[in-house]
Amino acid sequence: MTLPPPLPARRASDEGAEDRLPPSKKVFALRNLPLGEIRAIGFDMDYTLARYRSPEIDELAFRKAIRLLVRERAYPLWLLEAPYDPDFAVRGLVLDGARGNLLKVDRERQVVRASHGARPLEPDEMDGIYGRRRLDAAAKGFRSIDTTFEIPECALFALLVEATDGKRIEGKSATDIFQDVRWAIDTTHRNGEMKTEILAHRDFFIPKDSQLAPALERLKRCGKKLFLLTNSEWSFTSGVLSHLLNGEDQAYPEWTDLFDLIVVSARKPLFYLEGTPLVAAGADAPAHAFSGGNAAWLEEKIGASGQSILYVGDHIYGDIMKSAKTSSWRTLLLIPELERELGLLESKGPQLRRLVQLETLRRRAQRHLSILDDQLQRNHHHRQLLATRLSPDALDALNQEAGGLSRESAELAARGVEQGAEMASLLREVEAAYNPHWGPMFREGDAQTRFADQIQQYAWAYTGAISNLYAYDPNGTLFAPLPALPHEQV
Ligand code: IMP
Ligand code: MG
Repeated sequence: MTLPPPLPARRASDEGAEDRLPPSKKVFALRNLPLGEIRAIGFDMDYTLARYRSPEIDELAFRKAIRLLVRERAYPLWLLEAPYDPDFAVRGLVLDGARGNLLKVDRERQVVRASHGARPLEPDEMDGIYGRRRLDAAAKGFRSIDTTFEIPECALFALLVEATDGKRIEGKSATDIFQDVRWAIDTTHRNGEMKTEILAHRDFFIPKDSQLAPALERLKRCGKKLFLLTNSEWSFTSGVLSHLLNGEDQAYPEWTDLFDLIVVSARKPLFYLEGTPLVAAGADAPAHAFSGGNAAWLEEKIGASGQSILYVGDHIYGDIMKSAKTSSWRTLLLIPELERELGLLESKGPQLRRLVQLETLRRRAQRHLSILDDQLQRNHHHRQLLATRLSPDALDALNQEAGGLSRESAELAARGVEQGAEMASLLREVEAAYNPHWGPMFREGDAQTRFADQIQQYAWAYTGAISNLYAYDPNGTLFAPLPALPHEQV
C-alpha cells in the first residue's frame, strides 16, 4: 500500500497562517472551538459534503414539482412553460401559507420585507398585516426556508399565488396552494425521479472539490473518528459520494473507507430524539453502514458523546439547532452562499465604507441638532420671560442669535436630507447586488436577520466549504472574536 504524503511540516512562523487565509477559505468561529477536545466529526451529505450546481438543480425540482401538480392535482397546463426565476428567494425567508406571502424577518422576529406572491408589499401594507408583532415562524401555516432545497419551493408558491390572484388558477385558496406546493416538492424528493436524474448527470450536477478528500484524510490522520449522518437514502448517498470520493485518496480507495460509521435515512431531527428502527443500509453496503437509528446509539457506536462530537451540516434547524440543543454536540454550519456573500462584501467595500461614514455623520448631526434645538428653546424662553425687562439692544442680540441658530439647524437638516438620500441609494445598490428582491440573507439595513441570529445562537463556527478545514490544525483551537458589551470596548 502506498503511504499518504506527509502532512506539511509546521514552523513557528506559521502561527498567523490561519488568519492570513482569504475570507472564502476561512472557518469563522462564533465560540472558541478546541478541536483537540473533539473525538468524532460527523458530516451531513447534501449541501455539506456534496454541493449541487445551483440554480440548475433548483430548476429541476421546480419543473418536476410543476409536472406533478399538473398531472395529479389538475393544475393548468400553461404552468409547464412558466419561467423559473433563480433570484426569487434566499434562504431564511418565511412563507405565510394562509396569506400567500413571503417574509423576511429580522432578529427581533419582525417582518422587514414582504411580498404577496412575487409582488413586493408596500411598507404600510406590510405593517397593516404584521405590525410590530413578533412572528412565530414555527406556528401552523408558516414555513421557514432553512435549506437550499427549499428555494424553488418559494418560487413555485409565489407563481401559483400570483396566478390565483389573476384568475389563471381557479378554486384554490392560498392555503391550498401552500399545501399543494409542499406536497409536490416533497414528492419530487421522495419518488426518486429527481435523484435518478441527478445521478445520471452527476458530473454536471455535483461539482467535485479536489480538496475534499485531503481535508477528510487530514482529520482522520490526526486521530478523529469520522462519521456520515445523512437523511438521504443509501443508493443516492452511495451514488453521490462514490462520485466525489472514490479513487481520490490511495489509502481510502472507496468513499466508505473514509468513514468509521455511516448512517443514512437518518430522519434528522427525529434522529436526535427517539429516531427510527436501525437496519443495515443496503445489500451492497459495508457492515459499518446503517439506516435509521438514533443519536444515543450513534454515540455509543462511535465512542464519543456530547461536546466531544462536532457535527457539520447545512440545515440550521435539523443539523445545527437540534443537534446542539438535544445532544449537546458542537456544530459547524456549512453556508454554501458564503463565498458569494464574501465576494460581494469585497466588491461593494467602498459603498459599505461610505455607508458607515454617512451613518457616523448622521449620528453626529443628530446630536448637534438636538443641541441647537435646546439652545433655540432657551433663547425663545429668554425672549418670552425677559421681553419687557430687556434693552432693545439685548433683545436684538437674542433675535440675532435665534436667527443664527435656526439657519444652522436648517442647513444641518438639509445636509441630513442629502446624506439620507445618498444612504438610501447606496443601500439599495448594495442590497440589490445580493438579491434584487430580498437583499442580503444576513442583514436588512443595519439590522441582522433571524437567520443570522439563529446562526449566532446555535453554531460554534461556520464556513463556506468542508475543504476549508484542510488549512486548520485538527487539534488546534478555532478562536472566536473576544465578546464585548458596549461598555467593555477598550
Ligand atoms: P441531508 O442534507 O444529507 O441530511 O439530506 C437531505 C435529504 O433530504 C436529501 O435526500 C433531499 O433530497 C431530502 N429532502 C430535501 N427536501 C425534502 C423534502 O421536502 N421532502 C423529502 N425529502 C427532502
Ligand atoms: Mg444537508
